Amino acid sequence: MAIFGRKSKSPSAKAHTPNSAHAPARTTRPPVATTSTPEREAAIMNAGSQMLDIAKDHKSGILSAKFYQDKLMDWSMKDHNFKVQLFRFVDAFPSLTTPEMVHDHLVDYLTQPGVKAPPFMDLGLKAGGVAKGMMTKTISSQINNMAKNFIAGTDATDALPMLGRLWKDGIAFSVDLLGEACVSNAEADMYQAKYLDLVNNLVGEASSWKHTERLESDHLGTVPRVNVSVKATSLCANFNPIAPKASMADFMQRATPVLEAAKANGVLINFDMEQYELKDLTLDTFMHACETIDFEAGIAMQAYLKSGVDDAKRIANWAKSTGKVVTVRLVKGAYWDFETIHAEQEGWPCPVWNEKWQTDQCFEQMVEVFLDACPTKPGEGGIKLALGSHNVRSIAAALAGLDQRNLPRKAIELQMLHGMADQLKYAAEEMGLRVREYVPVGEMIPGMAYLVRRLLENTSNESWLKSGFLDNANTATLLADPASKHTGTLPVDLYEIAPERHQLSPTNEYIGQGRPFYTTPMRDFAQEDQRNAFGRTMSSTTVPTVTNDHTVDQGLDMIRSANDAFPAWRDFDPIKRAQIIERVAQMMSDRRDELSAVVCKEARKTWSEADADVCEAIDFCAYYARTAPALFSPTRLGKFIGELDELWYQPKGVAVVISPWNFPLAICCGMTVAALVTGNTVVLKPAEQTPGIAKILFDLISDALDEFNAPRDVLHFCPAPGETTGAALVRDPRVALIAFTGSKAVGLDIIKAAGDTSEDQLMVKRVISEMGGKNAIIIDASADLDEAVLGVRYSAFGFQGQKCSACSRCIVVDPQGPDGPRMKLFLERLGESTKTLILGASDDPNTDVSPVIDAEAAANINRFIESARSENLTELVGSKDFNIPAGIDDLIAPHIFTGVTESSTIYTQEIFGPVLAVIHAKDFDQAMRMANNHRYKLTGGVFTRKPAHIDIAKRDFRVGNLYINRGCTGALVGRQPFGGFAMSGVGSKAGGPDYLHQFVDPRASAENTMRRGFAPEL
Ligand SMILES: Cc1cc2nc3c(=O)[nH]c(=O)nc-3n(C[C@H](O)[C@H](O)[C@H](O)COP(=O)(O)OP(=O)(O)OC[C@H]3O[C@@H](n4cnc5c(N)ncnc54)[C@H](O)[C@@H]3O)c2cc1C
Repeated sequence: MAIFGRKSKSPSAKAHTPNSAHAPARTTRPPVATTSTPEREAAIMNAGSQMLDIAKDHKSGILSAKFYQDKLMDWSMKDHNFKVQLFRFVDAFPSLTTPEMVHDHLVDYLTQPGVKAPPFMDLGLKAGGVAKGMMTKTISSQINNMAKNFIAGTDATDALPMLGRLWKDGIAFSVDLLGEACVSNAEADMYQAKYLDLVNNLVGEASSWKHTERLESDHLGTVPRVNVSVKATSLCANFNPIAPKASMADFMQRATPVLEAAKANGVLINFDMEQYELKDLTLDTFMHACETIDFEAGIAMQAYLKSGVDDAKRIANWAKSTGKVVTVRLVKGAYWDFETIHAEQEGWPCPVWNEKWQTDQCFEQMVEVFLDACPTKPGEGGIKLALGSHNVRSIAAALAGLDQRNLPRKAIELQMLHGMADQLKYAAEEMGLRVREYVPVGEMIPGMAYLVRRLLENTSNESWLKSGFLDNANTATLLADPASKHTGTLPVDLYEIAPERHQLSPTNEYIGQGRPFYTTPMRDFAQEDQRNAFGRTMSSTTVPTVTNDHTVDQGLDMIRSANDAFPAWRDFDPIKRAQIIERVAQMMSDRRDELSAVVCKEARKTWSEADADVCEAIDFCAYYARTAPALFSPTRLGKFIGELDELWYQPKGVAVVISPWNFPLAICCGMTVAALVTGNTVVLKPAEQTPGIAKILFDLISDALDEFNAPRDVLHFCPAPGETTGAALVRDPRVALIAFTGSKAVGLDIIKAAGDTSEDQLMVKRVISEMGGKNAIIIDASADLDEAVLGVRYSAFGFQGQKCSACSRCIVVDPQGPDGPRMKLFLERLGESTKTLILGASDDPNTDVSPVIDAEAAANINRFIESARSENLTELVGSKDFNIPAGIDDLIAPHIFTGVTESSTIYTQEIFGPVLAVIHAKDFDQAMRMANNHRYKLTGGVFTRKPAHIDIAKRDFRVGNLYINRGCTGALVGRQPFGGFAMSGVGSKAGGPDYLHQFVDPRASAENTMRRGFAPEL
């Protein structure tokens, strides 16, 4: 029988079955023996059944059941594809400002391939006129109602009557301020003001309510009536684990007045727990705050984390050792999907349990830790446990734990979300428990992320509530020991099987243990050990001293030597060549932090940028090592009897590699190893600004060549001035191939020089030239501004805008004109968010914006800034907005200019610095035209929540690399092969399947295998 009595109208409601081809592999492990005992299970069954029985009979307040009866939800539960599109539409809904936009987006989402709209929507989707208007109205009001289920009001004042009613009904509250992602100090200040308002005024408002002993006392004494939930990230726009001390200081600066006010007013402040990457920082900040200010404190802790039990022990030990009493709201966790996806994208171990029963089991284990740490008398330090769960099994386990320790029921609190499981709240209340609702307040737009999380949670097949309300589960199933759900097999963590799962490259049994290529995961600076190791290496590493003094004669001598070495290297075993390059990857991996430190100091890259540079270099080696050997084995074409047609490739000859300073290891390494692994010999001339890291690369490759007894003279290192030696190298007639990345001026000069073929030259030179970009990001009318602001900010100012992929044009769609509300809001958020960036030295982990590469670059960028001013563009953000530390040369503050036209200098010219031009477009078509209207075709970006616009962008946005709903930099080898066309370069994409073809010449043979009328195959 369904516990909550809602007979499913559709027993056939299908669970979403993942495509088995993509399902992760499973590993068989011995089933986990239950940690429970029959006595404990009996006690849990007893407490749980009691709660379920009371809940079942409860007549009033069945909002949760209503939720499932909603027509839209009903259909969502039946059709996974519909659910996905509906929730995406719900997410976009608040940004749709007119009924036309609502209808347009709805139709767009619900007509996506594979989506079947419910019959009651069919007419409205197809028809125009009245039916169309009616549907838009109905859907809008349904979404508003959905939001009202979970969000109690637009602000605390609006929600006050509801809070009063709850109190009367015997339910306490914790108010949560819903908000957009806090992307600037200005937004953090705004949150601080709102929290202060709550903490100072809610007590007064609630003071007239009747005293309720059950809600206002526990076994130790008084429990504050007013309880406010706070997110650390809302009080600090730079809450970043890479710089914990600075983050904490910034947080405390805004939190202190709030916590002091809470202390004065007797308000409990609960720190919510957010993403895993912030977990340790949040815990540390919480403990620091408690040690600094004696306020009534609580913190949420998550059982879906594999670290859950250790986290619980850590905070329990801290509380006991410091004598502090804090409340822990134990939850399972709200970001399971995000954590799983994020870990997979980064190639990191997944921090959350893979299976639901593991989370449930961890919850019960954490309950035990916390109950053991529960103070038994006033004055004792420890943990007061609050259960943030709607799962009666989880709650009953805690009740049994209390009884087992002879702790009274008042020793714990039960917390549930507003709009969910109301029967359970009233059942708990009848059982004498202290029940608190978590009550979010806020506007629709900031509320959407919260709403979508609740919708996902309520409709998830793993949801306990859904089992209880919808799936006819019986009491025994609902209250079963989590361990009993363990089938004996567990999914393998995705990162362990990532190479096989993604198949980003061909495999070769002799390379990389026969496994396909997979991108090197970047350092996870949220992990203290990785952060500390990196910091230590940073302080102990110096940049090798290399002088760019190689003369023309020395350079030409290297070409002679490389030319002499070519035949032997050409005929060298291609597998061995690949093994040498794979070995280079290994050597770089072993020394990766040291290499990052050199990049950081020499190229002035911040920690993360330097780490990314090194990862990419490793990836180029690993990827090309796997793709090269196949080029040299003949491929048979067709199966003609009596005819053997074959195609294979041969190396070209001497390659001159001229590499840039902006990816001083990655691009230098990529071009060099691509040439070597394909059997060409190389003269490498690194950028004059960054010869130190290039020298390390040269030494590494030389060592690898030695290890394999390969000739050393296949690679020559030529640090030299570009104008003289570099120019001579590319003009030498013995050179077969030039691989260049750098400015358009030099690139075009090389192309011209290479086309000048002398009489004694044996081959026409090939030039691979990657030259730059003037990349645009479009912010569509339905874009998620939280994402768009951060995406543009990072794309424009990451590494000071000195990536050829950087965003330097931002095109904002606002149908209401350049002064329209979308434009204004975006500019305000982008401007304030940019002002929050921290300028400083590159080796300081706190730095977001470090100096540009050298004084010459700084002067050039400053000239562009001056030109913008002289053209009377509006300087939205500039030097005046930053604290520019003294004593650091070449620091240029991020600049944003508005009022830009398509002929403004900073809009048309490549700058290679932190200068962004923002321009208005009246609609998406115009934005696309503007974006395409440039000779550079490298990267481009679109932030939109309209599926049709994504299709249009894929078709018509003519750039080498298009990024949708993310920033436009940071291409990954094998995953996002990188490179442009038109004035952005000639050649195929680095890190892609065609790249190595440019370093070789194809050959073919056709053999007549028929002799005297017969052939071997017949
Ligand atoms: C008052 C309150 C405050 C909260 N505050 C926070 C907070 O600050 N931070 C936060 O992150 N969460 C918070 N949550 C938790 C969260 O939002 C969910 O409501 C909660 O996880 C649902 O758990 P349950 O026990 O009610 O339901 P159940 O249905 O028993 O559990 C659902 C949960 O199981 C986990 N899960 C789902 N699928 C899997 C899987 N395949 N493998 C492993 N685990 C899985 C997820 O955590 C999911 O939310 C809070 C919850 C409440 C009630």
